[in-house]
Amino acid sequence: MWSPHPFHWVPAGGLRHASTDPHPNGGLAYPDNTEVGVLCGGTHRAHSGDESWLWPVCAPCRAHTYELSGIIPPVAVSA
Ligand SMILES: [Zn+2]
Repeated sequence: MWSPHPFHWVPAGGLRHASTDPHPNGGLAYPDNTEVGVLCGGTHRAHSGDESWLWPVCAPCRAHTYELSGIIPPVAVSA
């Protein structure tokens, strides 16, 4: 399955985290309540719905996505 980056965003617990877990069943997102390993450590249960996509980004996950993408992060981004 084509993916532009080696991670996905996953809204969970009031923040948008990032995960390298594949989407289940070849889907385009993690279904509600999917247990997902996140880059900041541990697991969260995915939350679907329009509002959750507006939650703030988890700062440690964001820093890891820069590492995974091979992009040097702005100074303001750190784990
Ligand atoms: Zn996170």
